[in-house]
Amino acid sequence: MREKDGDAATRLSLETRLAGLRQPALDRATTWPYSEGELGSFAYQRYDHPLAAEVERVLGDLEGGRALLFSCGMAAVAGIVLALCKPGDAVAVPSGAYVSTSHLISDELSRFGLRLVEFDQTGPPPEDAALVWLEPCSNPMLSFPDLDDSIARAHERGARVAVDATMLTPVLLRPLEHGADFSVHSATKLLGGHHDLVLGVASCARDEDAERLFQVRRLYGLIGSPDPAWLLLRSLKTLPLRVERSSATALELARRLREHPAVESVNYPGLGDEVAARYVHAFGPLVSFVVRGGAAAARALERSCGLIENATSFGGARSTIESRSRWEAERVPPALLRLSAGLEDVDDLWRDLERALASL
Ligand code: PLP
Repeated sequence: MREKDGDAATRLSLETRLAGLRQPALDRATTWPYSEGELGSFAYQRYDHPLAAEVERVLGDLEGGRALLFSCGMAAVAGIVLALCKPGDAVAVPSGAYVSTSHLISDELSRFGLRLVEFDQTGPPPEDAALVWLEPCSNPMLSFPDLDDSIARAHERGARVAVDATMLTPVLLRPLEHGADFSVHSATKLLGGHHDLVLGVASCARDEDAERLFQVRRLYGLIGSPDPAWLLLRSLKTLPLRVERSSATALELARRLREHPAVESVNYPGLGDEVAARYVHAFGPLVSFVVRGGAAAARALERSCGLIENATSFGGARSTIESRSRWEAERVPPALLRLSAGLEDVDDLWRDLERALASL
């Protein structure tokens, strides 16, 4: 992936390029000496540091844009909103998508004059939004927008578009190739992949947006630290394998859940979402489903799982399950469970789920 490899590097597959990444030294310096009194590549860790620069080189290359590392996914989300919006602006966020993105606007940035408009992302975005947020394979309702159409419509009205592709990673979807202005990830999830780091990444299609976002990151202090960045670089070497494996497992579990009599409904774009299938060949690790028996049944089921850990978050090597109403109250069906497929054997996972479902 080094520049001097030029054309040869671009012919290599994603797996080969990522597997061949060299792990850099863990440089924890917070300050670097000036060179002959002048600024060198790095000066102060809050601005930039070598591990962030390496993550940005690798992910910018994967996304086809200029990447910036943030301390977590929400810092990347907040950075983009703060960089682009002014008082009076409406921010359109999909309903059934990551709850804190909506809360950031409605509960915090509304104080500075921003307005949240929630919309069904399977249809066109609202006309009056200055910033349109999209979340393909949304968390936790797993809806999928028609990206090309939504992005084109938003741009026609002068809106900017950010796509949170946390669930898919650049292995499955590169939103900038579809015309998005920004691609956003909680690197805490699949990019990190081991439940041992918290980071975020935003990639920009345009240099001027990257400069603006860099300024916001610097002034609000939103950059990710060297230690998690080092872990993230380690994780990226196995990203394609983990994404493909966990997506295949999630699809199989979704199919089996759909047939189970204790399950009322299953959300997974791999179960026949034709729009999603136009954009991606696999659909990520997250499945959500509603069990019969209401909220109490969902709470009982999550505690009955053993191999599948009853914990929040997703995208790690170990599968997790949780009832989402504890976090989202009436935004989700009371009996909705969110399952993240990890790297375990699919039959082992199914046995665990089947046993838990049988106990309802
Ligand atoms: N985007 C999505 C889709 C998420 O699911 C999350 C967290 O769950 C975030 C962003 C925020 O990421 P983080 O927890 O790293 O701040």
